[in-house]
Amino acid sequence: MRSHDSSICSLCQAPSYPVIWEDNAFRIILINDQSYPGYCRVESIEHFKEMTDMDPSLRNRCMSIVFEVERILRFFLRPDKINLSSLGNITPHCHWHIIPRYKNDNHFPLSIWSNKKRRGSRELKKGDQDKLIQLIRIALDQ
Ligand SMILES: [Zn+2]
Repeated sequence: MRSHDSSICSLCQAPSYPVIWEDNAFRIILINDQSYPGYCRVESIEHFKEMTDMDPSLRNRCMSIVFEVERILRFFLRPDKINLSSLGNITPHCHWHIIPRYKNDNHFPLSIWSNKKRRGSRELKKGDQDKLIQLIRIALDQ
């Protein structure tokens, strides 16, 4: 489960995206995707290849964090849909993508990793991004 070869693992390096929140087991990062503002990722800090490699309390904690982020994104951004996705084929860190989706976004109704159906961009104003980060931190620090 835990590999010590962290030099080749991108998620063992300092995150290149802003860290919204973290504890000793998980962190939430804000993916600054200009097509998908508010797109967050919850990732395990240690190596876990599969969700069932975590003990039940840890994986329940992981899902509680994912659902809390989903709840806040729905409340704050009012997307048409939230996509939750866990792939993890490249790095051995269980992680969940939490992606706000809109009927007119670049890929809807397909996944964001499919071919683009249209070209547009959305923006989250700096003030709104700060507010979103604040809401997530408050919710998870309770
Ligand atoms: Zn790693």
